[in-house]
Amino acid sequence: MNNNLPPFVSAFNAKVKEAEVFLSIARDSVLQQEVINNLLAFRESIALEMATAIENGNEDYANLLLGCGCVTSALVAELKMWLLLKEDKPDAAWDELITAQMASIDAVRAHPGFAHLAKHNRKLEAIENLVFPPQVFVSSGMIVGKQECSICGTEYGDCDHLVGRPYMGQFCYIIAKDFSLDHVAIVKHPADKRCRVQHFDVEGGTRNRMTWKIEPKKDA
Ligand SMILES: [Zn+2]
Repeated sequence: MNNNLPPFVSAFNAKVKEAEVFLSIARDSVLQQEVINNLLAFRESIALEMATAIENGNEDYANLLLGCGCVTSALVAELKMWLLLKEDKPDAAWDELITAQMASIDAVRAHPGFAHLAKHNRKLEAIENLVFPPQVFVSSGMIVGKQECSICGTEYGDCDHLVGRPYMGQFCYIIAKDFSLDHVAIVKHPADKRCRVQHFDVEGGTRNRMTWKIEPKKDA
């Protein structure tokens, strides 16, 4: 990015630079928690700046701020992941990793100014493969009665909005109505990697697929 940046974006870039220092398991946990708190406070100022951008009808800037929000969420999630791993909570850490991955990919979709994040996304993918054991993913198939556009509220397909594209600081997504579960399947590339097999029955209890520890069976 160049020198003609709005002051708010320069402040954002400085926050990111500051936070990136702490993206490692080796960094101090107390300092990492402080950075998380700072980022969460900054996310509120992004929302305020966004409201002004929308008021001024500045769609490009609103979408840039949408991306700033995604990057902030990705940084918070990655920091939380390292903290949770240090606390012996790998299942919760996994969810934060996936949140970080999805938020970082969202940022790239929000505005062309975040194209450079592709490199960071590869790092998050490497963490998935090097830090965590292999996972078994599940995906559910749905039968959807009605699909509504989140931007304008009409039947999706009748309007010009496209799923995953940013419009005035908001992503378009489909609001599914009247849906029923069709099937559940084991898949290699799920839409959401948080949907995975977490336990399986073994003699004497249930094995946690992440920790490999045998836990007592929870009676339903
Ligand atoms: Zn629409």
